[in-house]
Amino acid sequence: MVTIGSVPERLGKNRYDLDQDHSHIEVHQDVARRTGTGALLVRVCPARVYAQEADGTISVSEAACLECGTCRAVAAPGVLTWHYPRGGFGIVYREG
Ligand code: SF4
Repeated sequence: MVTIGSVPERLGKNRYDLDQDHSHIEVHQDVARRTGTGALLVRVCPARVYAQEADGTISVSEAACLECGTCRAVAAPGVLTWHYPRGGFGIVYREG
C-alpha cells in the first residue's frame, strides 16, 4: 500500500530558492487599509506568506510562496503587486 502523506508533509518536501534582491510580492499598505482587504490575504494564502501585524500592517514572507495565485485572485485592485519570481528562483516542487 502506498501512502501519500499529509498535505503539510508533502509541502515540507518542497524547496524555495529565495531571490534576496527582488521580492516578487509587494503589499500596498495604504490601499489594503483603505479597502479593508489586507486581512483577506492572511486568510486565503495556503502557505501563510501574509501576516497582519498589531498595527494592521500586512507583512510578507515570500519564502514559502507556492505561486498558486490565490492572493492575486482575491485582492482588491491596487492592493498587491505580484509577479513570478525571476528565473531560477521560487518554489521547487518535489512531488507532483
Ligand atoms: Fe500565498 Fe499563493 Fe499568493 Fe503565494 S501565490 S502568496 S502561496 S496565495
